[in-house]
Amino acid sequence: MSSTVEHIKCLIIGSGPAGYTAAIYAARADLNPVLYTGLEPGGQLTTTTEVDNFPGYPEGVDGPTMMVQLQQQAERFGTQVRIGMVTHVEFSSEVGGVHKVVVDNTTHLTADTVIISTGATAKYLGLPSEQKLRGGGVSACAVCDGFFYRGQDVAIVGAGDTAAEEATYLANICKSVTMLVRRDEMRASKAMQHRVFGMKNINVRFNTEVDEVLGDMVVEGLRMVNNETGEKEEIAITGLFIAIGHKPNTDLFKGQLDMDDTGYLITKGKSTKTNLPGVFACGDVQDKEYRQAVTAAGTGCMAALDAERYLASVE
Ligand code: NDP
Repeated sequence: MSSTVEHIKCLIIGSGPAGYTAAIYAARADLNPVLYTGLEPGGQLTTTTEVDNFPGYPEGVDGPTMMVQLQQQAERFGTQVRIGMVTHVEFSSEVGGVHKVVVDNTTHLTADTVIISTGATAKYLGLPSEQKLRGGGVSACAVCDGFFYRGQDVAIVGAGDTAAEEATYLANICKSVTMLVRRDEMRASKAMQHRVFGMKNINVRFNTEVDEVLGDMVVEGLRMVNNETGEKEEIAITGLFIAIGHKPNTDLFKGQLDMDDTGYLITKGKSTKTNLPGVFACGDVQDKEYRQAVTAAGTGCMAALDAERYLASVE
């Protein structure tokens, strides 16, 4: 590393609502933030069409537009937004220590504080028909998109707490919910299962998987297959929700930051502090429960405030 390595007061990794909100607050606090976007600038919301549940948009807003506006708001206060992927980190464990970061395997940087907002990626089944219809009726977020299918017949895949929670959410607004469970039992907690079985319009199909999502431009139906008998069946639906888990984008931090057994970063108490001083985490990378744009933005604000207080304490 040469002596001309750029030093940054507040480095933000990731460009979803958490990262941009952290940037807005950090910039306004004169922390001169630099934000690296990662491979998917704008994060998960750029794969969503309409966002109707972010406060302040009475008519709704499409995901990509909202992310551009968040970026503009962060830049308005002086955030430097750079396209680039952080490929290596070497965090200091000393209070007041300097963190080393490499971008795109080539650019070396140092930072006093690092805010991690790398998000999580929804898992999909990987079927070509499913991929073709993402945004056309296939969604990985019932709370985000369920509203568009109110009064209609939908299906959901998965059997964990998320699938159970989303199935009951959908059952309250949709006509019927067919729930595809690949084994002969559900992984979800008993309490969540009771809620599912308590809803008259949820039809749980055990040992059942998706064979093909039907429809050309939009979802029109589903061909299911019983994985014990091989029997196939088609049903008419307009929305298919995939709830088979998320993968937090934390591979880069393994061995340095504390994570739970599914790879989510662990933050201390109600703060965004990780186990290392000056390193903070916000948004979906540390939240597997709420996963909403507005909650991610809230923790982004917290991370910037935590970073500001940390800098004040070491300066
Ligand atoms: P989980 O990993 O717990 O569950 C994923 C589910 O998807 C499993 O039932 C799994 O089936 C199924 N699945 C995986 N791959 C496929 C596939 N290819 N085809 C069909 N089904 C598939 O993820 P969740 O998102 O549900 O939960 C993540 C964590 O968050 C958990 O710890 C959960 O408890 C927690 N959570 C808590 C909530 C709460 O407390 N309110 C709400 C939401 C989440 P199988 O069982 O056969 O492996």
